[in-house]
Amino acid sequence: MKTNSLLLFGLVLIVVACATTPQPGSTGLTFVHLNDTYRVGAVEDGNAGGFSRVVTVVRELQAQGRDVRILHGGDFLYPSLESQLWDGLQMVDAFNFMDAVAPMYAVAGNHEFDRRGPEQLAAAVRKSQFDWLGDNYVFKTGDADVDAALQPAFTFQTGDKTIGIFSLTLHSDDGGNDRSYLEIDTDYAGVAERTIRALEAKGVDLIIGVTHLHMWEDVEIARLKAKHPKLAFIVGGHEHEPEFSPGSSSSAIVMKGASNARVIWTIDVDFLESGEVLLRENKIELDESVAFDEDYEVLAEKWRSRLLDKFPFLEARIGTAALALDSREETVRNRESSWGNFIADQMRVAFDDEPADLAFIHGGTLRIDDFVEGDILFEDIGRTFGFSSYLRLTTLTGAEFRKVLEAGYRGAGDSKGYFPQVSGFRVCIDRSRNSGDRIVSLQVPANDGWEEIADDRDYSVVVPDFLYRGGDGYNIPKDRPASPAGSELKYLVLDGVLRAQAQGEMVGAPVDAANPRFHQLREGKQPCFQ
Ligand SMILES: [Zn+2]
Repeated sequence: MKTNSLLLFGLVLIVVACATTPQPGSTGLTFVHLNDTYRVGAVEDGNAGGFSRVVTVVRELQAQGRDVRILHGGDFLYPSLESQLWDGLQMVDAFNFMDAVAPMYAVAGNHEFDRRGPEQLAAAVRKSQFDWLGDNYVFKTGDADVDAALQPAFTFQTGDKTIGIFSLTLHSDDGGNDRSYLEIDTDYAGVAERTIRALEAKGVDLIIGVTHLHMWEDVEIARLKAKHPKLAFIVGGHEHEPEFSPGSSSSAIVMKGASNARVIWTIDVDFLESGEVLLRENKIELDESVAFDEDYEVLAEKWRSRLLDKFPFLEARIGTAALALDSREETVRNRESSWGNFIADQMRVAFDDEPADLAFIHGGTLRIDDFVEGDILFEDIGRTFGFSSYLRLTTLTGAEFRKVLEAGYRGAGDSKGYFPQVSGFRVCIDRSRNSGDRIVSLQVPANDGWEEIADDRDYSVVVPDFLYRGGDGYNIPKDRPASPAGSELKYLVLDGVLRAQAQGEMVGAPVDAANPRFHQLREGKQPCFQ
C-alpha cells in the first residue's frame, strides 16, 4: 500500500509533516473514493484492485474510530462480461454490500446509460440500497419510485458538523449518452454554483462534489472555491488513471482513482478546535499487500459461480500466450499494446484471406484491464470485449485515412479511450502540435521497408462499426462503398487464437522497440521511428 501527500487547509494554508494514516482513537470523518469499476472481483489475476480490498481499507479506518463514507465517481453498471448477463445487478449487489459496511454514494457515469431503454437502469436503481446522486440530471424512466430515488444535493451530520454533497455527470455533447429516459443539464459550473449556494444557505460546514466529468471540467468547477471557501474537494470518474489537482485558497482539490479500484483515495476530514479544517488525502494503490475481506469474498464467489454456471467453458484453455500480453487500460489507452496488436491484426483478415491494408480499433473497447499470459482462456476473450464489436470494411485515400486517424491523438494528456491500436501501418505523432495536426509520419509497408502513405491512393480499411458511425470522435467518410457491419471481433480473435493453437504456435509478439507501430516524439525531437 502506498500513500502520499497531506494538506492542511482553512483560513491559512499550512503544510506540516506528519503520519499519513489517521491516529488510533481519532474520531474524524474519512471519505473513501473510487471510480470506473467493472469487476466484482479483483484484476491482474487477483493481485490488484477490487472491492474486497476497498472493504478492508474501510474496516481498518472504522477500527480507528473514523466515520467512513464511500464515494463512487460513476461508470459501474456497464460494460463487462457480467453485465451482458445481468445488466449490472452484480455490481449493485457489490455496492449494497459496501453500503452496509459504510454509507455509499454514487453518481451515475455515462456507462450507467449504455442501454437504449430505461428498464435495466430502473431495475438496478430499484435494487440499490446505496444512494444515487445527481444535480445536473434527472431520471425519466416512467417509474416514479425510480425517478424519485435519484438524490439531489444533500447534507449529513458527522459529530456536530454538517457536510453537503453535490453531484454532476457528463452531457451527451461531451461524451455522455443521449437517452429518452434522461435529462442532463450541460451547464456544469452553473448547476454546481447554484447547488453550492443552496448548501451554504443550509449552514453546512464543508462542501464536496462527486462528479463524472472530464478532468478539465472538474478543475474549472474547483475554482468556485475562490467565492465559496467551504468547497473542499471534488472526487470524480471517467478517466481511468489517477488524477490529482492540488488545492489552494482559490481552488478545491480534485482527485480521481484508477479503474477497477487499482488506485483509490482516502480523504480524512478533521475539524480542529481553532475552526480550521484539516484535510488529508491519501492515494492508495490496492495491491497484493492489502488483504481481501472474507465476508466480501463470499459475495464475489457467488457471482463467480453464477458466471461459470452460465459459461461452463469460461475457464477452457484455447491457446498459449508467447509472453505476458499487456492489455491493461493504462496501456491500451496510451500506447502500443501487444494484445492490441494481435487484435488489430485479426481485424485485417475479417473479410478476406488477403488482409486489408489498414485496421484500427479504439483502445477503450478493450476492457480486460489485465495481462493475457500463460494459458489463454475463453474468459480472456470474454473480458477483453465488454461490448459487441461488429466490423466494417471500407476504402479511404491515404489523405482521408490520415485525417481520420488524427482523432485518435487529439486533446490534452494521455489515457483516452479513443487511442487507436493499429495494424498495417505505423504512425509517429507530436503532441506539442495542435490537435488535428499531430501526425508527423504515417507509413505503410513498402518493398524494402516503409514508405509514407500515398495521399491519393486507395487503401482498404477495417474499423469497428461504432467508429464507422462516428463514435469516439472519428469522422470516417461514407461516400465510398462499405461492407455492412459483419464479423464480430470477439469471435474473430477467438478464431485467431484457436488457429495459432492448431498450428502449434503461441499467440502474440512483444512490442518491438526497434520497429514500433506507434511512436510519440518526446522533447528533443528525435526523428520518427528512431
Ligand atoms: Zn465515463
